[in-house]
Amino acid sequence: MIEGFMNEAPSETTTRAKVIETFEAIQRYLTSLPRLRLSELLRGSGRKIGLIVVDMVDGFCRHGDLASPRVEALVPKVTALVSAFKDKGLPVIALADTHSPESPEFAVFRPHCVSGSIESDIVEELGPTAAPR
Ligand SMILES: [Zn+2]
Repeated sequence: MIEGFMNEAPSETTTRAKVIETFEAIQRYLTSLPRLRLSELLRGSGRKIGLIVVDMVDGFCRHGDLASPRVEALVPKVTALVSAFKDKGLPVIALADTHSPESPEFAVFRPHCVSGSIESDIVEELGPTAAPR
C-alpha cells in the first residue's frame, strides 16, 4: 500500500465528486454515439436487440429521500419505450436498486430502496416487466 493513500476511507465529498465525474464521463460517451430513431431500431432488421431499464423504482421516482420529480418525469417515456419493445416481442429487462438495511452505500447516500420496501418496487407503469422478487 502506498503510504498516505487508502489509509482512510474516502470522504463523502471525494466520493460524490467521483460519482459526478463518472456520470459526466458516461454522459460524454453517450452524447458521442450516433443517434438512432426508435422506428429504425425496431424495424425488422434481424438485429438482436433488447432494452435494459435501470432503477425506475419508486425510491427514485415517488417515495423516499432520493425520489425526484425529474426522474418521475421520465416514467412515461420509459413506459413508451418498454411498450414499443414488448410490442415487437423484444426482450425487456428491468433492474432495480435494492439494498439491505446495512448497505455500505448508505455511508454516502441517505438510506433508500431497502429490500422489501415500496422504494425498491419498480414503478407500476412498467407492470409485468418488473423483476420477480
Ligand atoms: Zn442505491
